[in-house]
Amino acid sequence: MAIILDGKKLRDKIFGELKLKLDKMPQKPTLAVILAGDNPASQIYVNNKKKTAENLGINSIVIKYPSTVSEKELLDKINELNDDKSVTAILVQLPLPEHIDKFKIIDAILPEKDVDGLTPYNSGKLFTGEKPYVYPCTPKGILLLLDEYNIEIEGKHVVVIGRSNLVGKPVAQMMLNRNATVTTCHSKTKNLINITKTADILISAVGKIVVGEKYIKNNCVVIDVGIFKDESGKIRGDVDFENVSKSASYISPVPGGIGPMTIASLMVNTVELFKVESGKCKVES
Ligand code: NAP
Repeated sequence: MAIILDGKKLRDKIFGELKLKLDKMPQKPTLAVILAGDNPASQIYVNNKKKTAENLGINSIVIKYPSTVSEKELLDKINELNDDKSVTAILVQLPLPEHIDKFKIIDAILPEKDVDGLTPYNSGKLFTGEKPYVYPCTPKGILLLLDEYNIEIEGKHVVVIGRSNLVGKPVAQMMLNRNATVTTCHSKTKNLINITKTADILISAVGKIVVGEKYIKNNCVVIDVGIFKDESGKIRGDVDFENVSKSASYISPVPGGIGPMTIASLMVNTVELFKVESGKCKVES
C-alpha cells in the first residue's frame, strides 16, 4: 500500500514556522485578493485565504466585484494596488468572468507583487531557469511535499497530465529544472495510458477522473492535483485513490494533499515578497 503524502501535516508545519517569523516582524505583509464574479468555489477559496492569512498575522484585503465588472475597472484597481506601498502581494482569483482578458489582467500586476508567479516576468524567469520573485503556488506546493518525503526527482521520468498556465506548464518546467525527464500530456494526447505507465512520478491536474489503477506502473509516485465534486456532491480528485494506492509507492489524497500545500505556498510567497520589498533578504526557493 502506498504511503500517503500528507499535505495537511506539512502545511501545519510550514504555518508553525511562518507564524514564528511573522510574530518577530515589526511590520506585517499585506495580501490583496481580487475576486470578480460569483463563482461559489472561488468565494470559498478566497474566504479561506483571508482567514488563513489573518490567523498567521498577515494583513489581508479582499476586493469584490460583480460578474459585470469591466476590464478597465480591474486594471485601474491593479494599478492602484501596484502603487500602494502598504500592499505586498496581489492575487487575482481565477477564473475571471468570460468577457475579461485574463492575460491582460495578470500582465498588469507588478512582478514583485505577483504572489502567484504567473506574470510573464516571473514565468519567463522560471522557463529560463533563473529565479523568479516567487514560484507558482500549486507547483511549489507539489515540490515542497515531494521534498518533505525525500522523493528523488533528478533523473526520474515525470509525466504531467494537464498543461494549464496555473499548474501543468509550470510544474513540468520546475521538474525539468530539477533534472527530471518530463512528458506533458493533455486532452489531445493519444494513448495516454501508454505514457503514464512509464512514469516514475505522475502528476495529474485535469479536473475529472483520468487515472485508474492500470495507468501506473508499480511503485509510481502519484500526485493528484484535481479537485471537483462528483455527481453525489463528494469532493474528489483525478485519481482512483482506492485502487491506485495499492500499487503506487506514494500518493497524495484529495482532500488533504495538494490543496493545503497550495495555500501554504501562497502564505510563504506573501512573506517572501515582503522580504524582497523591504530589502531585508533575498528570495529563498
Ligand atoms: P484547466 O486549466 O482546466 O486544465 C486542465 C487540463 O487538463 C488541460 O490542459 C486539458 O487539456 C487537460 N485535460 C482535460 N481532459 C483531459 C483528458 N481526458 N486527458 C488528459 N488531459 C486532459 O485546469 P487547472 O487550472 O490546471 O486545474 C486542474 C485541476 O486541478 C482542477 O480540478 C482544479 O480545480 C485543480 N486545482 C487544484 C488546486 C489545488 O490547490 N489542489 C490548484 C489549482 C487547480 P487541454 O489543454 O488540451 O484542454
